[in-house]
Amino acid sequence: THESQPPHVAILASPGMGHLIPLIEFAKRLVVHHNLTVTFVIPTTGPPSKAQNTVLQSLPNSINHIFLPPVSLNNLSGDAQMETIICNTLLRSLPSLRHALQSLTSTKRLVALVVDLFGTDAFDVAKEFNVSRYVFFPTTAMTLSFILYLPKLDEEVDCEFRDLPKPINIPGSVPVQAKDLMDPAQNRKREAYKWVIHLGKRYSLAEGVFVNSFAQLEPETIEFLLKKEPGKPLVYPVGPLVNTDSINNEVDVSECLKWLDDQSHDSVLFVCFGSGGTLSSDQINELALGLETSEQRFLWVVRSPNDKVVNASYFSAQSQEDPLEFLPQGFVERTKGRGIVVPSWAPQAQILSHSSTGGFLTHCGWNSILESVVNGVPLIAWPLYAEQKMNAVMLTQDIEVALRPNANENGLVERGEIAKIVKDLMEGDEGKKIRYRMKDLKEAAARVLSENGSSTKVISEFALKLKNKNM
Ligand code: UDP
Repeated sequence: THESQPPHVAILASPGMGHLIPLIEFAKRLVVHHNLTVTFVIPTTGPPSKAQNTVLQSLPNSINHIFLPPVSLNNLSGDAQMETIICNTLLRSLPSLRHALQSLTSTKRLVALVVDLFGTDAFDVAKEFNVSRYVFFPTTAMTLSFILYLPKLDEEVDCEFRDLPKPINIPGSVPVQAKDLMDPAQNRKREAYKWVIHLGKRYSLAEGVFVNSFAQLEPETIEFLLKKEPGKPLVYPVGPLVNTDSINNEVDVSECLKWLDDQSHDSVLFVCFGSGGTLSSDQINELALGLETSEQRFLWVVRSPNDKVVNASYFSAQSQEDPLEFLPQGFVERTKGRGIVVPSWAPQAQILSHSSTGGFLTHCGWNSILESVVNGVPLIAWPLYAEQKMNAVMLTQDIEVALRPNANENGLVERGEIAKIVKDLMEGDEGKKIRYRMKDLKEAAARVLSENGSSTKVISEFALKLKNKNM
């Protein structure tokens, strides 16, 4: 009935900006380069966040979005992990996803459902409508390899992974100490762990898994994933897909960018912990004093502290109180001219592409890392939650484009350590080497994204396949 129409793709995005942002970049390529149309279907547990609204409203006309009605998570335990919250939100939204797909099929030529790493339960619904099923995996090939390997590891190992005498050998990756594995693998008794096993078993139901990485960034892991084996999904590297227009989120953007304009080339360290990262009050204090004693220039996105969890703002991307009140007394005055602090949210994409930015202290969220790679900015790895410690291992031990500070026995990174590592990155020999390696990766990234680059081709082939699909 809708044969004359362009193919339509529904994309199910799980809660959190870190998943939505790369999915949007993927969608933009489908509509801008291949004339497909897209609807984002977004499960909710309450009103959408400001950050979500801002990005979704700025999209081209051929990308629509629907927020599904909020589901209740009241019966989840108060200390449920992020992954458990996300997977339950998706699971409970399946009936309304079914309605949404129903109404899409009545007006459009719906050909595929793309879900992100947490969304494979929606495949059963997609099947009812006879549409193709794909996964968009928004983080590393290494994490994908780990999740695919986990069901087997789960059968082979009886104890907690951290009680094993040796590091874990994820296929195609450097060995990883169990303490650096993704959060859900830190406690096998909890629900989040069981969810990840469940996901690992279901990726092979997809016609393909797009991974937001590229061969030059993770050579061995991607080589491993591309080898066809029974029970292993077909994997397609499409990265680095990063957002290039900043998400302004109502901050006065001009001020910090204007400040950057006045600084010299590669002189400023950008400090930001993603959309969700929070530090304890003690850690904020140490970081401030460390930045101060480093005598380097900095632009720091400050959030209110949280002494209990490290991802307190993940679902809202906002601080509740004025975060600047938690800085050490006199800090802002003493560092005036050399550093600036921005509360809650900054235009990260623009900051990283600014020529004055010479380093990035990051929580190692994968979007942040890719945004740094495409701009050739060297890193300090300060992982906080989710799979970020695995990302930090990859950055420091495998491709060597980051320095990672050591914490003391209480888990606190002290001011002296911070000052040293910041100086090493911005002025030291190690920093120089990292800068060279990052420049190489920047060029490699530009190549895979160019007209004939490998990532561009993968997306073209996907679009072509959907166009040729008989309904
Ligand atoms: N971001 C931003 N301003 C901020 C914090 C984050 O624009 O102050 C953007 C950042 O550019 C990235 C995304 O939010 O695209 C964060 O994704 P990432 O994967 O790094 O971390 P997550 O938020 O998922 O932990």
